[in-house]
Amino acid sequence: MSYLLSKSKYIRGLQCRRALWLDVHSPRLARYSAEQMRLFDHGRSFEYNFKATFPDGIDVSAALGRDINAYPAHTATLLDGDGEVSLFEAGFLYDDVLVLADVVHKHADGQLDIYEVKSGNTLSDTYKRDAALQHYVISHCRKIATFSIVYNDGLGGFVTEEFSEEFRSAHDEIATNIAAMKDVVLAGTEPDITPGGHCLTPYACPYQHHCNEGCRQLGLF
Ligand code: SF4
Repeated sequence: MSYLLSKSKYIRGLQCRRALWLDVHSPRLARYSAEQMRLFDHGRSFEYNFKATFPDGIDVSAALGRDINAYPAHTATLLDGDGEVSLFEAGFLYDDVLVLADVVHKHADGQLDIYEVKSGNTLSDTYKRDAALQHYVISHCRKIATFSIVYNDGLGGFVTEEFSEEFRSAHDEIATNIAAMKDVVLAGTEPDITPGGHCLTPYACPYQHHCNEGCRQLGLF
């Protein structure tokens, strides 16, 4: 692997360092409910509808599939061409973090408009933390003109809000978080974190059965 963290692993690590470690070293232990799978599908459908507003968009994932390590170089080749271009799932790598941007539109002067698509009806802090990480990575690779979160207006349409300046001010905190998370990923043993309220916020952790079983065996509950 050419990277240690992704956007999903960073968000997992903000919730719980143990969940991050499990995501990297024992992902097969994850269990998702039918409701979580339904929400994933809904999110993909909403994102597909937004991408359809860029009819000339080039889907990087269609060319590379699961060869994630190849995304940054392929994206760079497409962005280095002349003129404007729109890309879906464009890959960027910086500070051992690889992110895939939902939609990137490159202007003729090389600057980028980035769109991160979220299917929820409200703009949550988790959405912003997720997008701020992408801003951190991409801004160290290319010049960003605008960085927007696109979310659901409640009727299936799109609300677009721009956050470049807010995200730029979060870079130092993000760099600190990344450094701590890289230590977790590289550690040889699972962090000793007891389940609690954090297991359900902001998402229901998919490792609850694993951690709860460990606590039961130790007689903790
Ligand atoms: S169940 Fe709780 S303690 Fe265990 S990995 Fe998930 S968030 Fe962390």
